[in-house]
Amino acid sequence: MSIEKLHQIFLQFPTVCTDTRKINKSCIFFALKGDNFNGNEYADEALRKGASHAIVDEKKYAVSNRVILVDDVLKTLQKLATYHRNYCAAKVIGLTGSNGKTTTKELIYAVLSEKYKTIATSGNLNNHIGVPLTLLSIKEDTEIAIVEMGANHLKEIEFLCSISQPDFGYITNFGKAHLEGFGGVEGVIKGKSELYDYLMEHNRSIFLNADDPIQFNKLGAYIKKYGYTQHKKDFYKIEFLEASPYVSIQVEGKTIQSQLIGEYNFTNCCAAILMGKYFNVPLESIIKAIETYLPQNNRSQLIEKNGIEIILDAYNANPSSMKVALENFSGLNGGPKIAFLGDMFELGGTAPSEHQNITDLSAKLNLDKVFLIGENFYETQTSFTKFKNYKDFESNFSSVELPSRGKILIKGSRGMALERLLDLL
Ligand code: ATP
Ligand code: MG
Repeated sequence: MSIEKLHQIFLQFPTVCTDTRKINKSCIFFALKGDNFNGNEYADEALRKGASHAIVDEKKYAVSNRVILVDDVLKTLQKLATYHRNYCAAKVIGLTGSNGKTTTKELIYAVLSEKYKTIATSGNLNNHIGVPLTLLSIKEDTEIAIVEMGANHLKEIEFLCSISQPDFGYITNFGKAHLEGFGGVEGVIKGKSELYDYLMEHNRSIFLNADDPIQFNKLGAYIKKYGYTQHKKDFYKIEFLEASPYVSIQVEGKTIQSQLIGEYNFTNCCAAILMGKYFNVPLESIIKAIETYLPQNNRSQLIEKNGIEIILDAYNANPSSMKVALENFSGLNGGPKIAFLGDMFELGGTAPSEHQNITDLSAKLNLDKVFLIGENFYETQTSFTKFKNYKDFESNFSSVELPSRGKILIKGSRGMALERLLDLL
């Protein structure tokens, strides 16, 4: 079946499902294959549960006229997404970077929704399946679509750009994340920049952090760009005021008091403010959107428990986000301060040195006690009494002596699931 024909069916049944446990009535079921499952085997179940059609790529499952046989279900999903993206009038904003993509995406969504019919990536669906699903959630009256694109190796963003064909783009930052797949920081810069390469090649527009030397140097000569800055001339001025603990910002003489912790969230807000300005959202609405946004899913959340302030940042971690989180925590007023740090994954051969760097940094910072959790941190040299080292999470934390007041930072990779500490504390 041609993509045009499939798209006509999609317009009649404009919801896509890839998981029979979450079938919506009248959705189109795409029978994707994973390492441990073959979606084709679930096509029949999907139809019984109310799917309008099932797209399969194994002939033996094409047993009814509601089953559509294609060569490759994943490629069909991606092609349909691109076709639909071009069929709809919505402008597409592509977003990538090492850290802060989802937070930035949600902030941009909050700001642009003040004026436009906007859709954005749901949760963290930012890969070769999530990006098509996001594009297929664009409605005919959608005005702006914000598409988060994640990558852990080269050429991935290039591929996601070919699917989503963004009109605008923004890179949050270049950091030490997924070093294993990118083969080092240079690889990260190259890989994330594939978004800017796509935009320049297609004469589209770039939003830029003009104070980020990597972005500025790469894009300085490119005209179709819109940047924010704290200090430079010729860009939109947004000033950082403080993060104690919440980030406050000054723009056009007005103060924005966010509910976000950590100086690193400043640039996330800047991107949303800049795009709001570019798309003519009234400043009052921009301010309201930023001020009411609350982070979710263990991303830099401030929790109060038994008189102790807990910064729960257990959503993920890599050397860059760990560094800024620790520095931010160390700079907060009050104390005592205790950090629970979990292993950082996907670092390949650099894992020992990157974990040692974090241990060394923690030794220097204004922290009263540091609990290191995980096999990588366990191997680091800790010569100060403020460190306590646990090889595995299940170690007995009942011996942990906690103050009756003070602050706690919890941060580690997703796989460490350090939010489990909350129950133990
Ligand atoms: P993922 O790769 O999982 O999609 P992401 O890039 O979408 O991550 P977020 O989910 O927004 O990032 O944030 C995850 C964590 O990264 C936050 O809890 C915070 O610790 C850290 N972080 C957020 N923004 C920044 C930033 N601008 N610079 C450095 N670290 C950040
Ligand atoms: Mg994300």
